[in-house]
Amino acid sequence: MRVRIDLHTHSTRSDGTDSPSELVRNARAARLDVVAITDHDSTAGWDDAQEAADELGIVLVRGIEISTTYEGESVHLLGYDFDPTHEPLVAELERVLGGRNDRLPRVLARLAEHGIEITEEDVARESGDAAASGRPHIADAMVTKGYIAHRDEAFDGWLNTRGRAYVERYAAPLLEAVGLLKGAGGKAVVAHPWSRGSDRVLTSEAFERLVGAGLDGIEVDHVDHAPTTRETLRHIAHELDLVVTGSSDYHGSGKSEAFHLGANLTHPEQYERLLG
Ligand code: AMP
Ligand code: ZN
Ligand code: FE
Ligand code: FE
Repeated sequence: MRVRIDLHTHSTRSDGTDSPSELVRNARAARLDVVAITDHDSTAGWDDAQEAADELGIVLVRGIEISTTYEGESVHLLGYDFDPTHEPLVAELERVLGGRNDRLPRVLARLAEHGIEITEEDVARESGDAAASGRPHIADAMVTKGYIAHRDEAFDGWLNTRGRAYVERYAAPLLEAVGLLKGAGGKAVVAHPWSRGSDRVLTSEAFERLVGAGLDGIEVDHVDHAPTTRETLRHIAHELDLVVTGSSDYHGSGKSEAFHLGANLTHPEQYERLLG
């Protein structure tokens, strides 16, 4: 039976700092038996990660973290083991990635109003081979230019939802996104549902509706969830017969040590129910 299972990590194909193959190597070094690559809105890292996983003898789960919205709040949706060429899903992901890129000049204009001079080229250098530029890449450009010391500082006051340079972008309607993943033959799990605002909208009634749309599980064990939050979510998952997952949300050096590989794990029985 596989014992150390981490179902949520990011590579340079979104806003992590390890390339897909480095991510898999580091997962092996962290003694994981199973690791999922779940870049934001993109499957671009799958092939490189798979090649590394085959070499190292670690099980790779091919995943994604889709930016969605539910009743005006941002909700992240993990998808696993789906057909990455399923046309309706591909079209929706392109729309989401396009929304990220459209937002960029408007965020930079807001920063400029406050004397922070960052160009699109500065951000492109930080995002490298990522599928699109995210707020963390803008934050990295602010670090490189010496405006702040660390990526996290850009969120307080600037890039978070109440920040001076916050600009909305397109995200997929949550119920629709669950349907797209299911239509593509995959599994759908709500990521860290009760972090940052979405706790107000993701009530047990909302989870019931999501089950109706085909939801498979809830990511309960995540650094952003306090112990009491985890207990309540575990109870909701139990009532609705949903799979419970745990994962690190690793971003390499892009997030603090609290998000290290294996920081939270998924129980083997839950893994078997979801992906076995
Ligand atoms: P984006 O998808 O471009 O809107 O940026 C969202 C990503 O930025 C998230 O997935 C996190 O990796 C990171 N992020 C969002 N909010 C914060 C925050 N308050 N502090 C640090 N990182 C954050
Ligand atoms: Zn991220
Ligand atoms: Fe997330
Ligand atoms: Fe994530």
